Amino acid sequence: MPEKVIIIGSGPSAWTAAIYAARAELKPLVFEGAITQENQQNGTLPLGQLALTTEVENYPGFPAGDLEHYLDDSIDKQQRQIMPPHQKEGVSGPELMELMRQQAKNFGTRVITDEITEVDFTGQPLKLTASDGSVQEAHAVIVATGARANYLGLESENRYKNLGVSACAVCDGALPRFRDKPLVVIGGGDSAVEEADYLSKFASTVYMIHRRDELRASKIMAQRAKDNPKIEILWNRVVDEVLGDDTSGVTGVRLKSTTDEDDLEVEASGMFLAIGHTPNTEFLRGKLDMHPSGYLKWTKPFRTYTSAEGVFAAGDVADDYYRQAVTAAGTGCMAALDAERWLAAKGL
Ligand code: NAP
Repeated sequence: MPEKVIIIGSGPSAWTAAIYAARAELKPLVFEGAITQENQQNGTLPLGQLALTTEVENYPGFPAGDLEHYLDDSIDKQQRQIMPPHQKEGVSGPELMELMRQQAKNFGTRVITDEITEVDFTGQPLKLTASDGSVQEAHAVIVATGARANYLGLESENRYKNLGVSACAVCDGALPRFRDKPLVVIGGGDSAVEEADYLSKFASTVYMIHRRDELRASKIMAQRAKDNPKIEILWNRVVDEVLGDDTSGVTGVRLKSTTDEDDLEVEASGMFLAIGHTPNTEFLRGKLDMHPSGYLKWTKPFRTYTSAEGVFAAGDVADDYYRQAVTAAGTGCMAALDAERWLAAKGL
C-alpha cells in the first residue's frame, strides 16, 4: 500500500507539515536525512539549518527564559541526552528542532533517518528511492529539504575545509584552534553578524569581510556588530586566497579590494563563510520546475503546489526571499493542508 504522504526534510517546514498531516490522520512518514560525513561537511545533516544556530530570538512563543525543565519534560529521554546543554537564554535552534520533531512524533509521525536520492513523479503512486536503495511509494509528497550554506569556490578554501575553513561557527567555533586567535567571517548579512558575534566569545578579534561599504544585515543586527568591541569590519574587500599550511591549517587570508585599494593580508586561524545559501534540490533536477537558482517553483499563487501532481513544496527549498524559521513553519502547514485537500479531492 502506498503511503498517503511522505515528507522529505527535517527543518521547521517538514515538522510542521508532519504535525498537521498526522493530526489529519494521514500517517505521515518523514525522511529526515542521513547522518554522513558528507552531510556534516555540507551542513545538510538532519534537523536542518536551525540545528546549526544558537539562540532563536524571533520565533514567536519563545521569549528569553530558562526552558530546562520544559525540555527535560517534553523530549524523549534518549534524544534529550544527546542534545547540547541548555544555555538559559531562551530557546536555541537545536532545541526548537528537537521540540518540533518530538511534537510530530507525539501525533504518530514515523521517522526514517535516511535521505531520498531519486524520485519518479511521472504518475501515481509517486516513487521515492532512499540512499539504501529501498523504494517507497506515496500518493502525496511534501518536499522540505531546505537550503545549505554557500562557499566561495576557491581552490585554497577547499584545501583548508576542516582545517580552519567552516560555514558553521556554532558547530566549529569552540574548537581549540580558534581560541584567542583572530578569525575572519565572510559576508555582510544577518548570518555574518550572528557568526561574528558568536565567534567573538572565543576569538581575540573577528574581522568581518564585506564586499561593499554597507551591511545587508537588519538594523538591529548591524548595530550588534558595531557595538561589539571584538568585531572589526573590513569594507570593500573579497578573499583572493586562503593562506595556510598542512600542519597549522589556515593562517590568514589575502584580500582584494573591490575599490582601488592595495591587497591586504590578514592573519587569522579560521575563515567562516556566511554568504548565503543553495537549495537542496539536486535530486529533483528535471523532475520539478525550478528557478535558475535551483529553488522550487510554486505553480499556483499562494499555494504550495509544484509542477508535479501530488507534490508540494515547503520552507526554504521554495523560498529564497523570507527564509525564516517561522515562514518555513507556515508554509509547512500550508503544504500539509494542500496535500490533505488534494488527497480528499482525488479520493486517495
Ligand atoms: P544574505 O542576507 O543573502 O547575505 C549574504 C551576504 O553575503 C551578503 O552580505 C552578500 O553581499 C554576501 N555575499 C554573497 N555572495 C558573496 C560572495 N561570493 N563573496 C562575498 N560576499 C558574498 O544571507 P544570510 O545572512 O544568510 O541571511 C539569509 C536570511 O536569513 C535573511 O532573510 C536573514 O534576515 C535571515 N537571518 C536572520 C537572522 C536573525 O534575525 N537573527 C540570522 C541569520 C539569518 P551583498 O550584501 O553585497 O549582496
